[in-house]
Order: sequence, then C-alpha cells, then structure tokens
Amino acid sequence: MIQQVCLLGATGSIGSSTLDLIEQHPERFSLFAVAANSSVTRMVDICQRFKPKRVVMGSSDACEQVERECSNLDIQFEYGVDAMSSIAADSNVDQVMAAIMGFAGLIPTLAAVRAGKRVLLANKESLVTAGQLFMDEVLKYKATLLPIDSEHNAIYQCLPQNINGVTKKNVQKVFLTASGGPFRKFSLEEMQQITPEQACKHPNWSMGQKISVDSASLMNKGLELIEACWLFNLQPDDIEVVIHPQSIIHSMVSYCDGSVIAQMGNPDMKTPIAYGMTWPDRICTQVKPLDLIDIAQLDFAAPDYKRFPNLQLATDAWSLGGTAMATLNATNEVTVAAFLNKEIGFLDIAKINAKILEQSDVFPVTDLDVVFEADKVARVKTNDLIHHKAYL
Ligand code: NAD
Ligand code: MG
Repeated sequence: MIQQVCLLGATGSIGSSTLDLIEQHPERFSLFAVAANSSVTRMVDICQRFKPKRVVMGSSDACEQVERECSNLDIQFEYGVDAMSSIAADSNVDQVMAAIMGFAGLIPTLAAVRAGKRVLLANKESLVTAGQLFMDEVLKYKATLLPIDSEHNAIYQCLPQNINGVTKKNVQKVFLTASGGPFRKFSLEEMQQITPEQACKHPNWSMGQKISVDSASLMNKGLELIEACWLFNLQPDDIEVVIHPQSIIHSMVSYCDGSVIAQMGNPDMKTPIAYGMTWPDRICTQVKPLDLIDIAQLDFAAPDYKRFPNLQLATDAWSLGGTAMATLNATNEVTVAAFLNKEIGFLDIAKINAKILEQSDVFPVTDLDVVFEADKVARVKTNDLIHHKAYL
C-alpha cells in the first residue's frame, strides 16, 4: 500500500529532505497534501513536481500567487492554520511530517495527533511548549509518534522497546550528543562579535535559520533535553549532554550491564526521516555511507554552561514546570528573530531569555489556552525589553 503523506513545512530544510525521499520511493509514498508559510516559488515548484491534492499557505496572498502559477493542476488551494489542521487530519492521509518551524507548528501537529495519524515529529517546539498535554493526546487518540530530530530518532533506535512514554527497563542513562555548533571554541570576547551569517553556518548540518542559531547558542540542545524528557518519560538527571563535534554518533543509551548502544551515521536528516517514514522497516536513502577510517577520530567533551547559558535555562524551565517551557520557547523565538535582524547581539539571546524566564509567572498547563497565553505574554514582554534595551 502506498502511504499518503501530508507534509507540513514543505518548503523548509526538513521538507526538502522529505520530498527527496518521496521522490526516491514512488512505490512507497505519495504526496497528498503540503503546507508552508510564504515561499511561493518553492511551493509552485513542489506542486508541479509532485501534484499534491491539497495545498495550504500561510496567507491568502501567498495562496493566490501559488494558485495562479498552478492553474494547470487539479489542486485544492487553501490558507491559514485551520486549513493546515484540516490537511493534517484528512482521512486520506496516512502519515504527517510535522516540520513547521516554531510554536506555529503546534496546532496543525496536534490536529494530526488527534486524528490518530502516524506523526513524524520534527517540530520540537510543539512538544517543548505543550509536552504533557501533547503526550496525553498521543495516548488518547492512539497516534503513532516517531521522533525525527536526529538525536531522538537515535535514542528511539537504541531503546529496547519503541513505546512512547514508557519508562525503559534497565536503561541507566541517555547520552544526548551535541556538535557544539560553530562557536564551540570561541572566547566570551569573541562571542560578542558574532554575526547572523556566522551563526547560520553550522559546521555539520544544513538547516533552517532558526534552528541553526539555536544550535549555535545551545538552546537547540536545551529544547532537545526537554523534548527527550517528554518523549521517553525521563528527567534531566537521566540525560547527559555530551559535546561531540563530528556529529557521527547521534545519541546513545547506556544500560545497567555496562552496555552503551549508539546510533551512528553521516549527518544527514534523510536517515532519521526515512526511519520515521518506514519504521519498523528501513529503506535506502542515498545518504553517503559512513567511512570510519576516513573519520579516524571521535571526540567528546562536557558542555560549557558559562558560555552557553541557554542549556541551563532549559533545565530550569523543566524544573519550574507548567508554562515555563512555553515561556522560554516564546522568548527564544523572539530573541533569535531579533538577533537575525541585527537588533541584538548573540550573547543577548541567552541574557534576555533568562530575564524573561525569571520574571514570568508559571501556571499549570490545564489546557491549550494556558499555553497560548504564556506564549503571547512572553512575546510581548520580550519585544518590550528589546525595544527599551532593558537587558543591557
Ligand atoms: P526551515 O526554516 O527550513 O523551514 C520551516 C518551514 O516551516 C517552511 O516550510 C516554512 O514555510 C514553514 N513555516 C514557518 N512558519 C510557518 C507558519 N507560521 N505557518 C506555516 N508554516 C510555517 O526550518 P527547518 O530547519 O526545516 O526546521 C523545521 C522544524 O524541524 C523546526 O521545528 C526544527 O527545530 C525541526 N528540526 C529541523 C532539523 C533540520 O535539520 N533542519 C533537525 C531537527 C529538527
Ligand atoms: Mg537535533
């Protein structure tokens, strides 16, 4: 049976790798629906190549532009978040790749969960901000949740049984690996001069701008720590973050008998995406085979919390619980955008994130409205702080 795929975030980096795999395996996958925000040219190209049945854009303007260029095709065009949720829950769809960037991905991803789909989760922000609620819905609606983030996909592959949210017997510890990003060896003085261009140039992975900056500031590892806690029913104490600059080991699971199981491979998102799309089976991906003799050496180090305070902030947010994680995520989305806009410096990202987390009230996440309110309040506060330069 050919799997019908709904691809949320089709014009991005994960979207593009997913499309490559669909194109490589027409005997297994067909692109039924796609969503993206505003990249008209890229979406037109996707429509012409894959001829999906439903296409959703972020705005009516972008939607009209795509529709005009695709008048030769039989496609239903829509726009807005409700339409994104609708394609994610469409009864024709077997699997949903959740690869929208940031908090904007939460509602459509939850729609896929509530429709009981096989959900391939790249959009870590949705799990970080609404973790408990999200995992409860996965169980309630019997969705199949497969982690796409390379580290979590690796952990999933190294665990004894692939059941979401169940404590893993005999597991002693999880090693969450991190490349350390482009500024691993920078001094604090050097870090004051970092430009957006430098921050977006990751040494091992080619990714969207936001996650590239998060990787450079180690906020990505902080978000991933929270993501791993929700996905695998862990506490931060169960997880050790290890800097591994080659990005060959994507994470490891340590067992009580002394065994440590690692998942390795060249850094290419097509590997975890293919695993998510075909689990428990595997398919060929055209990812370059691993040449260990060529790599020769694998290095490991402890993270430096002084130069990269975002990692500690994530642990703090987890300990605070409730809306603290949505607050941290929201302030970070605003500070990263401000850094990319050259309104603040690189080191200001963590400084402002810390201030907002410290100043914000924490509420229990009783429903989605509470999460949205925390997100909104944190965005307003952060913009205000940046506007008044109250972080200097
Ligand atoms: P990207 O910036 O390259 O692409 C983002 C996609 O989301 C685009 O298609 C864009 O149109 C869409 N989008 C953005 N805002 C939207 C909105 N408001 N409504 C609808 N669509 C919107 O990002 P990416 O690197 O592909 O990352 C996507 C997600 O996957 C992120 O959550 C990221 O953390 C996660 N992820 C990415 C990688 C990677 O290697 N790129 C690895 C692990 C996890
Ligand atoms: Mg990752």
